[in-house]
Amino acid sequence: MKKIKIALVGNPNSGKTTLFNDLTGSNQYVGNWPGVTVEKKEGRLRMTGKPGREKWPQVIIVDLPGIYSLSPYTMEEVITRDFLVLERPDVILNIVDASNLERNLYLTSQLMECGIPMVIALNMMDVVKKSGDIVNPDRLSAALGCPVVETSAVKGDGSMQAALAAVRQVKFSPPAPLKFGETVESTLGMIGHVLKNKVANEVLKRWYSIKLFERDEKVREQLALSQSDLDKIENFIKVCEAELDDDSESIITNERYERVTSIAAESLQRNLNKLSASDKIDRIVTNRWLALPIFAAVMFIVYYISVSSVGTIVTDWMNETLFGSWITGGVSSLLESVGAAGWLQSLIVDGIIGGVGAVLGFVPQMMILFFFLSFLEDCGYMARVAFIMDRIFRKLGLSGKSFIPMLISSGCGVPGIMASRTIESEKDRKMTIMVTTFIPCGAKLPIIALIAGAMFPGSSWWVAPSMYFLGILMVILSGIILKKTPLFSGEPSPFVMELPQYHMPAAKNLFLHIWERGRAFIVKAGTVIFVASGLIWFLSNFGWNLRMVDQDESILASIGHFITPMFSPLGFGDWRAAVATVTGLAAKENVVSTLSVLLGVSEGAESTPALLASVAGMFSMVSAYAFMVFNMLCAPCVAAIGAIHREMGSVKWTLIAVGYQTALAYIISLLIYQFGRVLFLGHTVSAGTIAAIAAALILIWLVVRPDSNKKIKPPQKATS
Ligand code: GDP
Ligand code: MG
Repeated sequence: MKKIKIALVGNPNSGKTTLFNDLTGSNQYVGNWPGVTVEKKEGRLRMTGKPGREKWPQVIIVDLPGIYSLSPYTMEEVITRDFLVLERPDVILNIVDASNLERNLYLTSQLMECGIPMVIALNMMDVVKKSGDIVNPDRLSAALGCPVVETSAVKGDGSMQAALAAVRQVKFSPPAPLKFGETVESTLGMIGHVLKNKVANEVLKRWYSIKLFERDEKVREQLALSQSDLDKIENFIKVCEAELDDDSESIITNERYERVTSIAAESLQRNLNKLSASDKIDRIVTNRWLALPIFAAVMFIVYYISVSSVGTIVTDWMNETLFGSWITGGVSSLLESVGAAGWLQSLIVDGIIGGVGAVLGFVPQMMILFFFLSFLEDCGYMARVAFIMDRIFRKLGLSGKSFIPMLISSGCGVPGIMASRTIESEKDRKMTIMVTTFIPCGAKLPIIALIAGAMFPGSSWWVAPSMYFLGILMVILSGIILKKTPLFSGEPSPFVMELPQYHMPAAKNLFLHIWERGRAFIVKAGTVIFVASGLIWFLSNFGWNLRMVDQDESILASIGHFITPMFSPLGFGDWRAAVATVTGLAAKENVVSTLSVLLGVSEGAESTPALLASVAGMFSMVSAYAFMVFNMLCAPCVAAIGAIHREMGSVKWTLIAVGYQTALAYIISLLIYQFGRVLFLGHTVSAGTIAAIAAALILIWLVVRPDSNKKIKPPQKATS
């Protein structure tokens, strides 16, 4: 039986993934900014309940990355267009956000040139109806020459009809491409003539001609034209440019917009009386002066509620009652009743339950945090934040695009690093990869919660939010410093982003996101943390002679003493803190589980308060804060380092990234500890203080020094 392949194509945020999930029943995570779907995903059309469905052809749906255009400038555009032109799906299901018709039809006009049968899913019809606008699907269908199906993907309205229309459309011919003005058309004809031996298919020939007219490098390479052909084409283009007095790419863009605007105007009747609720909210939320304070307040509240207030109550219960007394107590008495050896009891209770339990205890706080983060993302607020950040980042030579990976990193650094693929400028992309893990991820949350609870009881409200803001501050600081080096200089990438309408997030989507993160966290606790806790228990209970010894004579202690001096200037010269930091490289949760195992806190009936008390005994407020900061900023966990390596594509760059992160972490912790102990703990000035002053001066110099790259350029231009 023949397979039918439907390609879902559309602008970012038009609802492709929502429709894809609806049609295939798979649970792809629905993100709210460009770049979340970077790789294409496939699924089978699910036709439950339809009698005789065995006779149906097998229908495969491909969710392609969201794009605004088929130009070759971003990874998503290239993926999508190569798929369409080279793999030739049977039919395109073009998702058009009806609440943003004109902008979306711009892409449609390009899809019509691919020579593939097409159906339009006119999505977000619920939003359009609410706004009072009226879209006429029949007029749109007539103007474009392909079927138009109204849908509301979040509600599942029309999804199946759209898919079935696409299946039917396979047998029909593709829509005819829109005609450009006469001058352009005749130039395209001449270019097409040059291609006559290269491309047989008439429609594709036109597509290639347009791309060549736009001077598209990728297509030039693909066609491998001879130099004389290229020269001929270049001449045609120059003549056309002279006649229309514009560069060829803009000529095509303008002509497209002209056609698309008139089609949109024909099929759309706007309700002019109403400023939509979204517009009203945006006036405040993206206001030049209010935007940042609002963002800061929102994030403050989110971290405050998740980590400091509500989250703590649930976590305390988990730790005290569930892990502290029920599980530890139950397992202890069980092991005793079966007469298990003392060492085995210790391994299970102090090692495994102590380590894994200490981490699992923080699951509720994480879940609450993720609930808020995905709510903010899904309702459309985070898209505004990227937009706001673009204004600030641009001044530093960065683009708002760099902020998207950072937002994703507040969940987990690995997808955050991967999302950097959407940044077209190679230098910006590398820089984003280097700084994106400064934003605290879910796995770092237990560290924050532990330190906040242990060291700042009663006044911990500012600790968790401060870590988020410190992360952003470090990104900005790094942006300024790195942009001034020749490795990263250059103009920021362009950042165009459509702001989706605000809307109530779908409960299913929220639940999915929280579940996905929570599950990953629990799986990690059961694997990496489990093994690491056992290992830490072993190394801290046995000496080099493989006999059980006091912790201070254990294998781990001797290794720990070896690395501790490095951390002494940062205030955590206790070998257990140093070891915990190193185990954090396997997974950041390990910092907490290692401390828990080493401090042997599960022996008491109440696990977390005991852990908090022992941790409190290890640190001063200042050194605890420095310890936390170092663990936030230093080299991320191995999974994230692996992602950095994949995305950087080189060992050298991976080392540069990890080295930079660790060096910055070291300097910032040094500053915090050395200045903090003089300012807040009343210690006297010491050699460490002097070192910190020197480090601060170097840091300030790196930030304020003139941009050498900017200086060199003008004379070069003058001579050329
Ligand atoms: P993609 O970027 O094209 O994959 O778009 P998504 O599927 O991620 O959807 C972007 C956002 O629009 C999500 O928050 C969806 O819940 C929402 N959305 C999708 N379809 C509709 C719709 O028909 N109506 C409304 N109101 N929201 C929708
Ligand atoms: Mg998507």
